[in-house]
Amino acid sequence: MDDDMDNHPAGHDHAVVLGAGLAGLLAARVLAQRFARVTVVERDELPAAGPAFRPGVPQSRHAHVLWSRGLDVMEALLPGITRALLAGGAALLESPRDFLWLSTADWFGPVPGARILLAGRELLDWTVRQEVLRDGRIEVRSGCAATGLRAGPDGRTVTGVELRDGGPLAASLVVDATGRTSRAPAWLAALGHPAPAVTRYDSHLGYSSRFYEIPPDPARRWQGMYVQGRPDSPRGGVLVPLEGGRWLVTLIGNGEHAPPTGDEDFLDFARSLRSPALYDAIRDAKPLSAPTGFRSTANEWRHYERLERWPTGFVVLGDAACRFNPVYGHGMTVAALAADALDRAMGTLSARDLPGAARRIQRSTAAVAAVPWQIATSEDMRYPETEGPPPDRVARALQAYMSRVIVGANADPAISRRFFGVLSLSTSPNTLLSPGTVVRVLSKWRLPTSPATTDYPAHHVPPAG
Ligand SMILES: Cc1cc2nc3c(=O)[nH]c(=O)nc-3n(C[C@H](O)[C@H](O)[C@H](O)COP(=O)(O)OP(=O)(O)OC[C@H]3O[C@@H](n4cnc5c(N)ncnc54)[C@H](O)[C@@H]3O)c2cc1C
Repeated sequence: MDDDMDNHPAGHDHAVVLGAGLAGLLAARVLAQRFARVTVVERDELPAAGPAFRPGVPQSRHAHVLWSRGLDVMEALLPGITRALLAGGAALLESPRDFLWLSTADWFGPVPGARILLAGRELLDWTVRQEVLRDGRIEVRSGCAATGLRAGPDGRTVTGVELRDGGPLAASLVVDATGRTSRAPAWLAALGHPAPAVTRYDSHLGYSSRFYEIPPDPARRWQGMYVQGRPDSPRGGVLVPLEGGRWLVTLIGNGEHAPPTGDEDFLDFARSLRSPALYDAIRDAKPLSAPTGFRSTANEWRHYERLERWPTGFVVLGDAACRFNPVYGHGMTVAALAADALDRAMGTLSARDLPGAARRIQRSTAAVAAVPWQIATSEDMRYPETEGPPPDRVARALQAYMSRVIVGANADPAISRRFFGVLSLSTSPNTLLSPGTVVRVLSKWRLPTSPATTDYPAHHVPPAG
């Protein structure tokens, strides 16, 4: 036991989680099963009266899709959360049946797909926070920024955190869930630990998003849509229904096709997508906000799990460890899966033994990023201007095969079930490589990857005029 801990006996049975985003809150929920107290330290002042925007999660102004796997894991950790979200106005849809999707090939028909939850990010965070804080062992200190780690004299044992106002705070386990702006590499360096290797793929994707009032239309038979870009037409858009009778429309484009943030340009860009369906939907709708841009969308994996030396009592989770190009919609599900992996890695360890298992926990939680990382980076590498380690021959063969899977999924429910199972992170990608699936996929080789017209899906009614 080091001196620092002796100075702070409260630290013995105390875990500190930095960041009250989804990764931090879900981790706190799990840690409260072992620690007598869990303190979540959050830099922002958290809204007290209900869901509201806050600067620490700027991405909340852009469309977020929660895949069924993420929701299922959240439900297991916080029973009743789905009901609470739906009561708050979230929508649980079937994609592509009622959430239309123009893939890189054609519009998906109403094939078996996956459930997705659509809600304002503020509603999601608020609801998760309310549910997590029902646990009396968990407390939030908001308006309080973490500025570094405290450690024993040799830097090998993390004993707490430094806070900008009101620190230090002693703890035997510290979890960094401060998201994409995490300073963990510098904090570790200050303790004498090497920086993690970083793998980065940047397809220079830009987002521009705007809220609209949902215009009444009794003939509308869909609730949301995704018009996907592709390398020869790298512009896309997603329209999601949100609580409060709103649509959130996010336009997407790579490199010089990044979407504009001017009022008029926003509609012009929407008109230039591969299908007019999204433009038709919003052209006469009433905007409720100005467009907001976002450009920091690179995939970036900080490989803490590879470091040979790792301090006792420290773990990095969520976007702080690995962030993804958001267009594939996996970050929140990965945050939930990381909490689940933390739960499993804790096994039967007591609060006293957990800090010593930090390195193993870091590896287990990092492993959940592998599949979404593969999906995001191999898709991004289809775009010639993407910066990052080039794909090898196997990766190229898989890219070509996945193009055929997307075509086959639209014609064969068995392929579509597997494709959406993998995309929603519910089933292993190996299911797409089983001999039976490969034969099914290749038997559809005559179907075109670029159909003559992608104007409207067959199960969609264009608006009058
Ligand atoms: C534009 C965009 C769109 C996205 N769309 C999707 C989507 O469709 N589906 C999906 O699943 N994911 C999506 N994501 C990813 C998703 O938002 C994140 O992966 C997910 O929220 C997990 O985030 P986190 O909890 O790790 O970090 P965050 O949500 O960023 O939370 C980090 C928290 O730490 C706090 N903090 C920061 N520094 C400190 C400090 N020093 N001390 C104390 N607190 C601090 C912040 O205020 C914040 O509350 C998108 C991301 C972006 C950028």
